[in-house]
Amino acid sequence: MSEITDQEWARVWRESDAIGTVRWFGPSWHASVNAPRVRIPVPVDERCDVCRKEFVEGSRGLRIPCGSERRFFHYHRGCFSQLILGTHVHGPETS
Ligand SMILES: [Zn+2]
Repeated sequence: MSEITDQEWARVWRESDAIGTVRWFGPSWHASVNAPRVRIPVPVDERCDVCRKEFVEGSRGLRIPCGSERRFFHYHRGCFSQLILGTHVHGPETS
């Protein structure tokens, strides 16, 4: 689990904007979020905050900072869709 220092947190929020708070990883799925400047390496030391499975190389997902908990949430792409939309639209959770 990523520990965030006060200094790091201040930097995150200073640099944040509508898209800047979101980072993505894994192979692109060609959505508007997949801007090259906000791509990060797959966080293989983290677990998905929905399914609790560890990320592996090739996992697709999102990293979103949570201000109230002062940490990053990590989600598989499919798990985030399930969280927001209520079900997987298609494909396994890691695709
Ligand atoms: Zn997941």
